Amino acid sequence: MTEATATIIDGKAFSERLREQVTIDVAALKAEHGITPGLAVVLVGEDPASEVYVRNKGVQSLAAGMHSETHRLPADASEADVLALVGRLNADPAIHGLLVQFPVPDHLSQARIVAAISPDKDVDGLTVTNAGRLASGLPALTSCTPVGCMMLLKDALGDLTGKHAVVIGRSNLMGKPMAQLLLAADCTVTIAHSRSRDLPALCRQADILVAAVGRAEMVRGDWIKPGAAVIDVGITRFPSRDPVRAAEGKTRLVGDVAFDEARAVAGWITPVPGGVGPMTIACLLLNTLTAARRLHGLEG
Ligand code: NAP
Repeated sequence: MTEATATIIDGKAFSERLREQVTIDVAALKAEHGITPGLAVVLVGEDPASEVYVRNKGVQSLAAGMHSETHRLPADASEADVLALVGRLNADPAIHGLLVQFPVPDHLSQARIVAAISPDKDVDGLTVTNAGRLASGLPALTSCTPVGCMMLLKDALGDLTGKHAVVIGRSNLMGKPMAQLLLAADCTVTIAHSRSRDLPALCRQADILVAAVGRAEMVRGDWIKPGAAVIDVGITRFPSRDPVRAAEGKTRLVGDVAFDEARAVAGWITPVPGGVGPMTIACLLLNTLTAARRLHGLEG
């Protein structure tokens, strides 16, 4: 039996404080400039996990005092229908943040849909313009989950200068922007992926280890450098352990990191759930507020 050493990074508590601050800033933007930030979410089809995410985004944006719209299209909607809706929302002055919930059904091109979103309203930070701006060190709307991970890391560790960060995963949504943000914070960054050789050895070099893969408990305790900060982004859903809840379709979430093993070695660690997850929507609200301010010329 190993003894737990890591400090648990409480993303839930941090996200609540962040949402409170966004709510205050939204109220100030309304009072001082008559601007109500507006978030539009487009959902195509009926993916159950996406339904939950979209519902939460609507509820939390309203709770922060924002204008909120959810646009639902049937699973067999044509790409022309989706692009036309995106075009209307791009042009709508009440909307400052616009996202299409992915994945979309297979007959639709994610790349063409992303390309249709106005970069000024791209609160998921997925457009080429925002990815390029991030990579060039210019102000950008940046993917919410990596932004949330950085906030947690800076809160836990303070200055990140010179630390070796290993990011497992290279998606446009998660791994790549995470690596860019760590680089911008003066970390030395390694990006690992499914073709990387000897992943455990790479991970053991990390002062900061970010796992964004989607393979339950892939990262074991002996992959972790003693004292490292471990940020577990991965989410895999399994049926609830309670048979009654499982029969109702209830699930439990498991991260990419074998938590009990990792906790005995790491210095800091995010749990799943309650770590990175709650930060994502809080950062979406922050991005929507930022987009509203920039669209009205109030922020560079
Ligand atoms: P993704 O697009 O599927 O990317 C997964 C990445 O993991 C890919 O780069 C892939 O490498 C890499 N990978 C797969 N198997 C691997 C292996 N055996 N060893 C090393 N790398 C491997 O997923 P994503 O959108 O980035 O999301 C990653 C995870 O984070 C998912 O579980 C997702 O649910 C979760 N997530 C959580 C939040 C949140 O709010 N908490 C937000 C976003 C995502 P290749 O590029 O070589 O294929």
